[in-house]
Amino acid sequence: MKESGVFERAFAKVNLALNVGGIRADGYHEVTMILQQVDVWDEIDLYKRPRFEASLECNLPYLVKDERNLAVKAVRLLQKTYGIGGVHVRLFKKIPVAAGMAGGSADAAAVLRGASRLYGLDLPDERLMKLAQQLGSDVPYCVIGGTCLAEGRGEKLTRIDPFPEALCILVKPNFGISTPWSYQQYHVTPDNPPADIDGMIEAMKASDLAKSASMMRNQLEKIAVEHYPVLGRIESTMMDLGALGARMTGSGPTVFGIFDDALKAQKALMTLRRQLGRMEIIMCRIGGKDPYHGGQGDLCEKDGRQGADRDTALPENGSEEDFES
Ligand code: ATP
Repeated sequence: MKESGVFERAFAKVNLALNVGGIRADGYHEVTMILQQVDVWDEIDLYKRPRFEASLECNLPYLVKDERNLAVKAVRLLQKTYGIGGVHVRLFKKIPVAAGMAGGSADAAAVLRGASRLYGLDLPDERLMKLAQQLGSDVPYCVIGGTCLAEGRGEKLTRIDPFPEALCILVKPNFGISTPWSYQQYHVTPDNPPADIDGMIEAMKASDLAKSASMMRNQLEKIAVEHYPVLGRIESTMMDLGALGARMTGSGPTVFGIFDDALKAQKALMTLRRQLGRMEIIMCRIGGKDPYHGGQGDLCEKDGRQGADRDTALPENGSEEDFES
């Protein structure tokens, strides 16, 4: 007999804007960010198991699968708070790991949503977001996804109009940048101005793609580019290839570029692949009036799932076959 379970998609995000503010009493920096979901996602199937179990299998052999994995932490949190039974998580990762794209946070949020459905709790988003705060600053956003202004540590969220629909090329270099290091290194300098958040929100509301893309800023980028000049080279290559804007997301190291023209984007993709051979390079959609926000699937069967499949939901050139390692 086939085992029934619950299917969730865990979407990645990019930071269209990231402004760093003062240090708070809890040691974290105040941040103001515009977060935008992109249509790159991890697939998550959840199955009931005997009480107390919280197990994980994953397509990436190097990823931690024990209690250190955010997906397992999310199960444990629901077990502790609501006394739900055991859960087995099948995780198919497609979001680059340690990339500044909130991959682990997205998985944790998807497990909170899915395990709540699996055990019939059907917790509302507000409740899930409260729980999510215990798992990490980006997790509350990942519960709702879409486009948000994030303040505080990133947990104070306001929905805003989406970035105008465009194509996005993501380049994830083969090194990591530690988030704490990045914030420690940050210091205020006149040549690192903050994003004009209100102006960007206006441009996005007016669906002005060129203006929205040209206003993207990330105040953690300067220090990252100083230490890893390749990041600056990726950005300028993207701009030379016709991007309307290119920035690092989060604390990096992934750089994303925005394209309004499929042909230009395709050529840029090929050129970047030729030049940056061993980096992970993905093309996906970004923004628009939520064409892919419906991340949750209904009850699925073990060997066949409902809802959009990754092969059909990604644009022609956005499937994982495009990954280079
Ligand atoms: P953020 O944008 O929220 O800072 P990130 O995209 O930079 O996150 P993640 O992909 O979430 O980074 O991974 C950061 C680290 O978290 C990895 O080194 C990994 O060992 C650990 N981790 C724990 N759970 C997961 C998960 N489910 N998926 C990916 N990484 C995870």
